[in-house]
Amino acid sequence: LFSIVLCVMLVSSLLAACGKDSETASKDGAKKVGVAMPTKDLQRWNQDGANMKKELEAAGYSVDLQYANNDIATQVSQIENMITNGVDVLVIASIDGGSLGTVLEEAKNKDIPVIAYDRLIMDTDAVSYYATFDNYMVGTIQGQYIVDQLDLDNQAGPFNIELFTGSPDDNNARFFFGGAMDVLNPYIDSGKLVIPSGQRAFEEVATLNWSTEEAQKRMENLITANYADGTKLDVVYSSNDSCAQGITNALVGAGYTADNMPIITGQDCDISSTKNILAGLQSMSIFKDTRDLAAKVVEMVDAILSGDEVPVNDKETYDNGTGIIPTYLCEPVFADASNYKELLIDSGYYTEDQLK
Ligand code: BGC
Repeated sequence: LFSIVLCVMLVSSLLAACGKDSETASKDGAKKVGVAMPTKDLQRWNQDGANMKKELEAAGYSVDLQYANNDIATQVSQIENMITNGVDVLVIASIDGGSLGTVLEEAKNKDIPVIAYDRLIMDTDAVSYYATFDNYMVGTIQGQYIVDQLDLDNQAGPFNIELFTGSPDDNNARFFFGGAMDVLNPYIDSGKLVIPSGQRAFEEVATLNWSTEEAQKRMENLITANYADGTKLDVVYSSNDSCAQGITNALVGAGYTADNMPIITGQDCDISSTKNILAGLQSMSIFKDTRDLAAKVVEMVDAILSGDEVPVNDKETYDNGTGIIPTYLCEPVFADASNYKELLIDSGYYTEDQLK
């Protein structure tokens, strides 16, 4: 019997070593990863999804990648299907971080590990790990840019500023806004920065679903109410590019040009925003290389499924209401017209043609 077992083991390892058979074998037995993304509307999530799928497949996984059109019920049912179809791991960029508790209870009951992707999933202990960019740092880079551009430590001002942040159901929005305000608040409090609209609280300046149209509407209203008399608008703090685009649209609609555009911040290096930066209609963005995030998440998936230590570098920042979720933070990078070539073109993130 012993020699038969030995023979079988030998034959199967020979088969595994032989190219074609091993490919079929690994495909058949491939572990499944469910990847749930919020929407195709925003360019970065298309990039995130495509990178994840490519990297996971290259690592031998089969991938179920779904986009939910920013609709919470759709995302819940997509995750439900993934669980029913027997995925081994779930990777989820949530639409509303607080709405997945019930469906993830099912994942937990079936011992399916969950990685929160980019946005933390709140109030459920089904989340095992979190991978994102340093969200607070995104905000401080944006805030510091405004301080430096206006030379606020040397200039008396006052300068007029308006504030825009993202979706109130996205935990990241509070980190971006919090980081930026930690830098800007001292200047607002000392009167060097003035907010003519008076809108300063998170709830007042949030933008549901990070919607370009909502941001545009709010900016149009702000212009009518506070700037129609010629009051100069020096800065618009925007947490990301989709809001920045709405802000730019409103300002262009009101007659602003590249010559008198206020400073406008952003995040993501969206193609439309990068074009605006090159045209002088937005000042900066934050480059979050989604290839790095995808690669890190694939490492996490590998480690989880092989029982190895999962790579994390932060165990104190992200409490989802049930405790701290061990996190891997990637580094966000400042981007503007001076370094976009190196960051976006030379690195192969975009082609020159995409930015024309
Ligand atoms: C992401 C940003 C993105 C925003 C809107 C946030 O959770 O971190 O990169 O701009 O969502 O989709």
